[in-house]
Amino acid sequence: MSTVTAYAATSATDPLTKTTITRRDVGAHDVKLDIHFAGICHSDIHTVRGEWGDVKYPMVPGHEIAGVVTEVGPEVTKYQVGDRVGVGCFVDSCRECANCKAGVEQYCTNPGMVGTYNGTGRDGEPTQGGYSGAIVVDENYVLRIPDSIALDAAAPLLCAGITLYSPLRHWNAGPDKKIAVIGLGGLGHVGVKLAKAMGAHVTVLSQSLKKMEDGLRLGAEEYYATSDPETFTKLAGTFDVILNTVSANLDLGSYLKLLALDGTLVELGMPENAMEVPPAALIFGRHSLSGSLIGGIAETQEMLDFCAEHGVTPEIEVIEPDYINEAYERVLASDVRYRFVIDTESLRGE
Ligand code: NAP
Ligand code: ZN
Ligand code: ZN
Repeated sequence: MSTVTAYAATSATDPLTKTTITRRDVGAHDVKLDIHFAGICHSDIHTVRGEWGDVKYPMVPGHEIAGVVTEVGPEVTKYQVGDRVGVGCFVDSCRECANCKAGVEQYCTNPGMVGTYNGTGRDGEPTQGGYSGAIVVDENYVLRIPDSIALDAAAPLLCAGITLYSPLRHWNAGPDKKIAVIGLGGLGHVGVKLAKAMGAHVTVLSQSLKKMEDGLRLGAEEYYATSDPETFTKLAGTFDVILNTVSANLDLGSYLKLLALDGTLVELGMPENAMEVPPAALIFGRHSLSGSLIGGIAETQEMLDFCAEHGVTPEIEVIEPDYINEAYERVLASDVRYRFVIDTESLRGE
């Protein structure tokens, strides 16, 4: 066992504070990495605040991890000391169920993937995430970061990137597809870049026109304010796919009506409370409502390689760990341009 400095939540309401946690010894198939950067995902905030259920405090969030390998177990074949690597939202799964075998480990049914934080590892210990100086992970749940992507910009790809890439691929985003992204935050802005790189026609649906210039620069063809009722009249029946990245409840019925015949609204945001779905908004136009959870390990690697090839990198604001609590407030106020990434240097080597 080794100790490492980290930032942990101790309750749903107290600020995160600096602490020390332990990491397991490097096992035969494990990789140990020094964490260089960790993104702040809105899921960290939902989890810390108990909006998704029980939390095992103290809990170290962070599942957008980028760093460098410092140690490998004797059986490790994929990575060497010095490799640039990432860890995303899960660090293990059963490896035996149909979904694990099909490479969609995020949907493991036996009993489920092991979350990078607030989960329970095979050793029975609680998992602790990336707001820390180092982590030990089985090599099969580690990703390779392409040389052309800087480690700070790579971090958000490990969750925000794959969460948008996977549904864009699943619903065949391409030149013949009209895609709308609701919410220009951490997930949304990467979604715009990815959809554009896939050749789709991209529209942003944001609360206001405040970030319009950015949205168009990132690759959107069109940009509308959802605070303007005209938007919903004008765009009725337009989109093949709508990706909803909003962290709060929306009036889903209004958005379902923006789908073209056979279009699908994919729910990516996970607000605490249920949302109403008026049946008519599905029936008229044979619309579908779906959801999508991050992506499997192979697809996450494919996404990283795609981003390297197409020059897709998140827009980030790098912060020191002592700014985490303020960053949380800014994320909650939709005041993020467009992902906070913690420089974890001060948490390493202590
Ligand atoms: P974020 O950076 O806070 O972005 C969310 C965006 O939603 C905001 O920037 C804002 O965009 C819009 N928004 C916020 N509050 C709103 C409100 N009350 N009404 C309308 N729009 C609002 O969050 P994120 O990190 O991208 O995460 C977004 C959601 O996805 C969270 O619920 C998170 O837990 C979830 N998530 C899901 C997965 C998955 O696998 N499905 C993975 C990661 C995260 P505008 O200012 O442009 O309106
Ligand atoms: Zn996330
Ligand atoms: Zn499984």
